Amino acid sequence: MFILNQQNSIANTYLAEIRNIDVQHDRLRFRKNIERLGELLAYEISKSLSFKQTSITTPLKDTSINLISDQPILISVLRAAMPFYQGFLNIYDHADSGFIGAYRTEEVKGGAEIEISLLYQAAPNIDGKEVILIDPMLATGKSFLKSIENLQKNGLPKMIHIASVIAAPEGVAYLEQNIKLPYKLWTCALDEKLNSNSYIVPGLGDAGDLAFGEKL
Ligand code: URA
Repeated sequence: MFILNQQNSIANTYLAEIRNIDVQHDRLRFRKNIERLGELLAYEISKSLSFKQTSITTPLKDTSINLISDQPILISVLRAAMPFYQGFLNIYDHADSGFIGAYRTEEVKGGAEIEISLLYQAAPNIDGKEVILIDPMLATGKSFLKSIENLQKNGLPKMIHIASVIAAPEGVAYLEQNIKLPYKLWTCALDEKLNSNSYIVPGLGDAGDLAFGEKL
């Protein structure tokens, strides 16, 4: 599992601002910081993709450079992922994209038991592709798993890169137990735990509401 803030970098500034209760309510800044984290994680993921040597001609000479041989497919889980996804799209500007609408339906069984429902999916063929599945909060892991199961209708990917801003150990363990396809986990921060409402602690609160306002 790759954890961006294991090494000190400018990413810590963006993470501090999206977590800080005195700063995070500036929506423009919140979305921009999430987008920047998407760009940084997209760059890190790019190092794991396949490259092929390609010739190019400068005004002065022919030369060669290693270029990504197959663009990844970006899949965004609506709605909270939109700013994070934009960061990935800024980096992989030639990538095809897909969208999944997922929401939490909560059943209380002596604590909050989260179930995930999917309402919408528009995604390209992912057969044999490197897929980056983008959702800022890896909490229970259920929306990631449900999205992956649903995406398999569009083919079997070569690799699924699961990208989050903040992950909880419970969600990481759930994915490790349940994903049957090749995958890699990428996150900007790994937090302590989930609370009884399955929110990440310390986390940042509700990423979708902070980016776009409270929903009904
Ligand atoms: N979704 C959020 O927006 N925040 C969490 O902490 C967990 C899921």
